[in-house]
Amino acid sequence: IALSHIRNFSIVAHIDHGKSTLADRLIQSTNTVAERDMKAQMLDSMDIERERGITIKANTVRIDYTAQNGEAYVLNLIDTPGHVDFAYEVSRSMRAVEGSLLVVDSTQGVEAQTLANVYHAIDADHEIVPVFNKIDLPASDVSRVAEQVEDVIGIDASGAIAVSAKTGEGINETLEAIVQHLPAPTGDVDAPLKAMLVDSWYDSYLGVIVLVRIIDGKLKKGEKVKFLSNDTIHHVDRIGVFRPEMTPVDELGPGEIGFLTASIKQVRDTRVGDTITHQREEVEPLPGFQPAQPVVFCGLFPVDSALFEDLREAIDKLALNDASFSFEMESSAALGFGFRCGFLGLLHLEVIRDRIEREYDIDLITTAPSVIYHVHMRDGTSFDLHNPADMPDMTHVDHIEEPRIKATILVPDEYLGEVLKLCQDRRGIQEDLTYAGSRAMAVYDLPLNEVVFDFYDRLKSVTKGYASFDYSLKDYREDNLVKMSVLVNDEPVDALSMMVHRDRAETRGRAMVEKLKDLIPRHMFKIPIQAAIGGKVIARETLSAMRKDVTAKCYGGDASRKRKLLDKQKAGKKKMRQFGKVDIPQEAFISALKMD
Ligand code: GDP
Ligand code: MG
Repeated sequence: IALSHIRNFSIVAHIDHGKSTLADRLIQSTNTVAERDMKAQMLDSMDIERERGITIKANTVRIDYTAQNGEAYVLNLIDTPGHVDFAYEVSRSMRAVEGSLLVVDSTQGVEAQTLANVYHAIDADHEIVPVFNKIDLPASDVSRVAEQVEDVIGIDASGAIAVSAKTGEGINETLEAIVQHLPAPTGDVDAPLKAMLVDSWYDSYLGVIVLVRIIDGKLKKGEKVKFLSNDTIHHVDRIGVFRPEMTPVDELGPGEIGFLTASIKQVRDTRVGDTITHQREEVEPLPGFQPAQPVVFCGLFPVDSALFEDLREAIDKLALNDASFSFEMESSAALGFGFRCGFLGLLHLEVIRDRIEREYDIDLITTAPSVIYHVHMRDGTSFDLHNPADMPDMTHVDHIEEPRIKATILVPDEYLGEVLKLCQDRRGIQEDLTYAGSRAMAVYDLPLNEVVFDFYDRLKSVTKGYASFDYSLKDYREDNLVKMSVLVNDEPVDALSMMVHRDRAETRGRAMVEKLKDLIPRHMFKIPIQAAIGGKVIARETLSAMRKDVTAKCYGGDASRKRKLLDKQKAGKKKMRQFGKVDIPQEAFISALKMD
């Protein structure tokens, strides 16, 4: 296929603005998939993605399209993840294509992830075609959104297309715009092979499947290729394209997007952004390669300690398919054996935790998420702290640095006050505040550790879901940080210890012990619950002892009520862990960490 008849593009959008639905319509209206095989959200392959309605892994499809000029084109769509945790994957896959459709819900307007994603597209020098979606809805206001796109993003919206991905209106115009307005790829078919590793995932039949974009040269089945980042050689046993199911081809040339398999066992051996060439060729690596780094860490422990080996197996399997997820064994005095795991962000953490609980049927205790601190000791040495439990005695510590982020929040005016208050409460420093129409855009410098617990949930609740949020890591800065420990019945529960700012320790400590007092059931004896910094107790509550018969004073002793109460206690038991003499329910570990 001639380079001039290829168009490679991605779709950028805020979550729920209709990216997947638009992709479905493009696939359907070009008969890429037979009508009877069509199902909603063709590109969102994993179950969890369908359920949560988010696209986690980049997916791709090749579409044959005969344009109005009568000529046949090949359109390659790479679908990128929409969530902030996967910004690195988004920025890499953007470099594999030349243009983007910028989808904006015309009933909503520009949101934080619209901005974040379109900036990735601009960084990658994309030609951008705005697509205003959901014009079938009465609240649709295309001219207002056009104005916003021009004001806030600063790109020309005069060529924008009004679309309903639901009814199919505007889909033909969109296909024409892809051909007319997006540039064809460039590349030299006679140069040595140079391909970009766009994505990879594990398939139980084929091993690792590698998504590639050919820059120069040709790739054929049976060839030996080299991955530059780790200098490994692989024998290519299959190449093909996605329609969207895997379809073999004889060769892939410049500008094309397809896959290879080469009996690669682990996704870890393939790095997104890597450069691929033939075994004996020398080529310049593609610029800007860097592996994605985990930023949020937490411990995962089986509620039932007999399931530790099952958990190890589950984690091993998940890690095969997710190079950005890290883990090592951890043992905790309170929780026994488990794993300390690193994630790209909170969503990533939730996805992995859900999959372990659901697909492997293992109930988990998740400890407080923590960021990586740089701890500088008085003796001049320093180290990265991944786990508050490893924090050395403060008298040996000179100072601690924490990661800070740049957060961008878009919100309707009427909720701005609440948002500013929330950011202030979380030690935020305002960097910018601007208005576009009736929406405000606030840019804050915030400590990542104030964001990892429940910032996003809080933001959604104080703005009734109208705020959108995006962030990027900024730098590490020193602050007055201390480790707060929690003691239940005078025993430290290291799974609940956390790093906090000194000025907030009392408030956090008090909130924590009050919550625990509600979450821990009464026992036959009195239980002191304390928060402490070093040896100093900063907050304390006492859970009083249980009376002999819990059900005795239960509304005149109604028998069915009594039984219900007892059943409830029994069910609760299953999900509890013993700490010394005290049973702590699993949910306490998560609930205690949320701030109100
Ligand atoms: P994504 O998160 O950007 O992939 O968004 P989806 O494609 O999953 O769409 C989010 C929701 O908006 C779904 O409930 C869709 O059915 C709905 N939706 C998408 N496009 C349209 C449209 O043009 N009109 C209407 N009325 N609903 C749409
Ligand atoms: Mg989607």
